[in-house]
Amino acid sequence: PDDIQHPVLVGLDVRGDGQTLPFASGRPDAFFGNDGQITKSPIRAMTLSALAPTFGEHLWDIGGGSGSIGIEWCLADASLSATIFEIDRERSKRIETNAHSLGVSVNVVTGPAPETLRDQRAPDVVFIGGGISAQMLDWIWTNVSEGKRLVANGVTLEAEALLAAWHREKGGKLLRIDLSEAAPLGSKRGWKANYPIVQWSVTL
Ligand code: SAH
Repeated sequence: PDDIQHPVLVGLDVRGDGQTLPFASGRPDAFFGNDGQITKSPIRAMTLSALAPTFGEHLWDIGGGSGSIGIEWCLADASLSATIFEIDRERSKRIETNAHSLGVSVNVVTGPAPETLRDQRAPDVVFIGGGISAQMLDWIWTNVSEGKRLVANGVTLEAEALLAAWHREKGGKLLRIDLSEAAPLGSKRGWKANYPIVQWSVTL
């Protein structure tokens, strides 16, 4: 729609509560309507850094959730674009709403990847944030051109085992991100651990 104005350019108060949208990736989770399935701000910042967008690139964000990864990709530069794949219809509607409220335009495809990946605009970079499987990785290796980049985040033991096996086979960089945040513990504070994230970055 042509009523979209880039909030980064206009300093738009997108939430109407006096909070303007920061320039850097890893923006507060509250900017993205979500049902809890969202890559949290610090992990998102590290993920955008690993995705490393450069001029004119097109992203596939597989397992879009709230759309926060694909949307932050588009917010990094007006030359960037994204197709976001999400199996859940309600989430995919929320992704459209989130993108619109943050002033970017993304292409949302509803349904189960990898089946939904065929016949879409070819990506320069692929991110997997949900639905990872050996079939998904096989599909990407067969159908996405050599030299393109892949970043996959896993949180479950099953995803970790898969990523560890493919890292041994294909190389790249395997990173474990363990974050804790101070939280009340009785009358004092303690480190509350998040689930560790395993992040695999590789060039196809
Ligand atoms: N990166 C997202 C969070 C991802 S949560 C964010 O920042 O908001 C994982 C998502 O993957 C969930 O929304 C789930 O519905 C979706 N998903 C799981 N399997 C999928 C599949 N095969 N195809 C598409 N989406 C899938």
